[in-house]
Amino acid sequence: MATIKAIEGASVHQIQSGQVIVDLCSVVKELVENSLDAGATSIDIRFKNNGLDSIEVQDNGSGISPTDYTTIALKHYTSKLSSYSDLSSLTTFGFRGEALSSLCALSTFHIITAKAEDGSKGTKLEFETSGELRSQNVVAAQRGTTVCVEGIFGNLPVRRRELVKNVKREYGKVLGLLNAYACISVGVRFSVSNQPAKGKKVVVFSTKANPTTRENIANVYGAKTLLALLPLDMELHMQPALASTQSARNWSTQVDTNSTAQPIHLEGHISRPVVGEGRQTPDRQMFFVNSRPCALPQVAKAINEVYKSYNVTQSPFIFANLKMDTGAYDVNVSPDKRTILLHDQNALLEALKTGLGELFEKHDQSVPQASV
Ligand code: ADP
Ligand code: MG
Repeated sequence: MATIKAIEGASVHQIQSGQVIVDLCSVVKELVENSLDAGATSIDIRFKNNGLDSIEVQDNGSGISPTDYTTIALKHYTSKLSSYSDLSSLTTFGFRGEALSSLCALSTFHIITAKAEDGSKGTKLEFETSGELRSQNVVAAQRGTTVCVEGIFGNLPVRRRELVKNVKREYGKVLGLLNAYACISVGVRFSVSNQPAKGKKVVVFSTKANPTTRENIANVYGAKTLLALLPLDMELHMQPALASTQSARNWSTQVDTNSTAQPIHLEGHISRPVVGEGRQTPDRQMFFVNSRPCALPQVAKAINEVYKSYNVTQSPFIFANLKMDTGAYDVNVSPDKRTILLHDQNALLEALKTGLGELFEKHDQSVPQASV
């Protein structure tokens, strides 16, 4: 008898889903990104018991068309990408059509959705673990979509136990991520609340659909935070010679080398390079590529290094948004899309250090000694 056999479909689905939705952060990230992709200007995120019992994300976005009800939670069904070549000009957060399908496999999951033309009526959709539509019922609802995830990882006992054990830390990471989305999303109101297992519901933070990231930062971290910040607004000019050597080393064949010398624009806010104006710990540092929150460890390291040469004892508040051509990076590196492969990373880091050095130098000279 053959010993090598195909794994049956439902198990494959469960295994793969656990790679897309790896933790509490991935659940929240996928749902918030879907709301932003749907053009929402108001997003409410409600946790019960730090997300262990349920996570609900409600938006006032486009809503879902009845013709999409049966496919919305099927794997690789998406309204955002139809072929691989579209990836290089992607402007949405999502593109793989995996999040909702994975959540069906890993939780008790339902959606309530209404289009503008539906009046105050909406539809509640429930799904099988496979992602197939199980039922649809008319309910009262406002325009937009509410996605509710209950008992995440209930059918992956080891993962669930780990989550229960580390829930405080995981929940802290989720709030950090939500801070980043709320700060970068101008014109979008965010509200985050948690209903603890015992006691009253608390509003964790909220923003007011502000027109600027400065106002968002003031809403999230308090208006006083702004006093210690310098605006970041600079062109990073990369050396073409250096750029092409690095690109040969760091980048796979699919990259368009014509985009090499395109300047990158750095926008955002950073603590003034003055002792007393930084932070005790590097806990408020957010990085974005074209407004997509992502992990950029090398960029973080470079900025922190330059800052430390002015303020050895503290770390800066960083809100750094790198604006670049969509062909100059790859988001399709990790299932959660947090890791981004930057074309010419080393050239970028050099340009970044030079630019920041100049900014801090200018500032340093303009700060009277007495205020240091
Ligand atoms: P992706 O975002 O990669 O397309 P998802 O599984 O996250 O995949 O979502 C599948 C599809 O469901 C999306 O392409 C979108 O059309 C629809 N969708 C998901 N969430 C929302 C939402 N909050 N509002 C409107 N449509 C949504
Ligand atoms: Mg999505």
